[in-house]
Amino acid sequence: MKGYNNDDLRRKNRGLLLRLIATAEASTRISLAKKSGLTKMSVTNIVDEFLKQGLVEEGEMEYQGQKGRNPVTLKLSGGGPRIVGLLINRESCGAVLCDLKLGVCKKEIRPLHAVAEEEFLSCLYELVDRMLAGETKVLGIGAASIGPLDVERGILLNPPRFYGIRNVSLRELFQERYGLPVFLDHQYNSAARAEHLFGIGREYHSFLFVGITNGIGAGIYVDGRLLGSANGLGSELGHMSIDYRGNPCECGNLGCVETYASVNVICEQVGRALGRPVDFPECCRRYREPEVDAVFKDALEKLAVCLVNVVNLVNPEVVFLGHESVHLPDCYLERMEKRINEGKLSDGYRRIRVLRATFGEEQQLAGAACNVLDQIFEGKLGLEEALDA
Ligand SMILES: [Zn+2]
Repeated sequence: MKGYNNDDLRRKNRGLLLRLIATAEASTRISLAKKSGLTKMSVTNIVDEFLKQGLVEEGEMEYQGQKGRNPVTLKLSGGGPRIVGLLINRESCGAVLCDLKLGVCKKEIRPLHAVAEEEFLSCLYELVDRMLAGETKVLGIGAASIGPLDVERGILLNPPRFYGIRNVSLRELFQERYGLPVFLDHQYNSAARAEHLFGIGREYHSFLFVGITNGIGAGIYVDGRLLGSANGLGSELGHMSIDYRGNPCECGNLGCVETYASVNVICEQVGRALGRPVDFPECCRRYREPEVDAVFKDALEKLAVCLVNVVNLVNPEVVFLGHESVHLPDCYLERMEKRINEGKLSDGYRRIRVLRATFGEEQQLAGAACNVLDQIFEGKLGLEEALDA
């Protein structure tokens, strides 16, 4: 634990106010002071700097039925700086160009099939090139990726089933090529970060973001902090065993929850019942058919066992279901909520909600972008240097 000197504090305070404005949690100097706990004088000084730098612009609040002058409102200016989000999945890669309030300016997704490392990298470069084309004020690149990763050093280590690609120093390569700071994190942590900064997750101190795809992973916020971001804790939720004599898993253990409740397992079982291949959105649309419903209920029951374990460990206020599970119909979310609340140890004390992730299918790209935004809002990426560069 290191102390903070004046420069660090100044950056932190600027980052905090910028976050409150960007996420529309506060839009006047008075509300900024109230929410941040900073003095009105400090708020005024920092906002003056933002105005001078063209980060923020003033407007006037609608008449509110009170006499006197309407308070001046603050919002991010339209021509403000941008950031790039880059998403690395097994089957596709994507990129997005956003403003500091996560407004999407450009977006592109590309499929990825059995590529060599060189093709993989040139696909990523092309995506980023297209995002950066014509842009003059870009603050950084945030990348969200399948794991395992060395988050500290920005290295993609040795993801299973990823065409033999391993040990790619993404941060170094991208920083060298683009001269921009690069921040890499696990896809589930990144998605949780988007929920925390801009989603419904903003309203909660502790929550569990669970992403279900061909694997299952999680990002866990406790008391406003992402747990174990650097070592990817939570990302491997799918390998939590729910039966020590259960299904063999590719990780070498038995009974891992993703061998029962991941998207490919559900699609395979529904496909067998229907006698033809189906994708996950279709499975979800046909949930009223008894054989489809039976597959879902069985998978969700097993997932609930896993989630009860996690809930007992970290005591979240909400569980967000994301990635492909955003397609699940409401009745299954309600069912999951009921099972978790029945199963958790603090039965009856504070009901845990189960909600769909705020950004739906866009959550992963939003998460990638939030890996940079978080650095800015935490005051770790100085705006002055970035804007002067
Ligand atoms: Zn496993």
